[in-house]
Amino acid sequence: MRIVFLGPPGAGKGTQATLISRRLGIAHISTGEMLREEVAAGSPLGKQVKGILDAGELVPDAVMIEVIKSRISRPDCGAGFLLDGFPRTVNQAEELSALLGAIQKGLTHVIELKVPEEILLERVRHRATQGAGTRSDDNDAVMVKRLAVYREQTAPVSAFYKTKGALFEVDGLGAVEEVQERLEQLIRG
Ligand code: AMP
Repeated sequence: MRIVFLGPPGAGKGTQATLISRRLGIAHISTGEMLREEVAAGSPLGKQVKGILDAGELVPDAVMIEVIKSRISRPDCGAGFLLDGFPRTVNQAEELSALLGAIQKGLTHVIELKVPEEILLERVRHRATQGAGTRSDDNDAVMVKRLAVYREQTAPVSAFYKTKGALFEVDGLGAVEEVQERLEQLIRG
């Protein structure tokens, strides 16, 4: 299984990706989490991207493609992987297709979690108060920016897969378990 989760910030991608990857026994690859770890470790990559994350902008494609390339070649991806937060631009999606095409391991599912925008802001506000300080980009101003970046740069990724007839859309509203059930039914067929 090689799965991509798409959806705006606050749609529940991270929560669902954690649950579903565990259920399927595949690697959960959150590029946002990987970048936050680099920032916390103060690595050269972390230093390069910290300001970008804090501003709610996107890390350059060339950097992200290198990150994902080395990550998906690690042994824990042998049974499959679930990408959470990648691809975020059409260019990244094209590069991913090329990478996977070269090893004849195309994506098995591209799934977009659909949640209305007014609810996204509420969810992120909630996350900001619950996890106080765990994510420096969980605040209103940066969230507004992240939503704008999503609309401009990441929504076209859904369109990219849709035109290929490869996009599944799943309602992201409801309890965590309900959404998980919808996703599992879809993936297990
Ligand atoms: P996330 O945890 O997925 O919301 O990602 C947090 C932040 O990491 C984003 O706002 C971006 O600054 C950066 N980021 C994560 N994944 C990508 C990606 N595929 N391309 C560019 N920037 C990314």
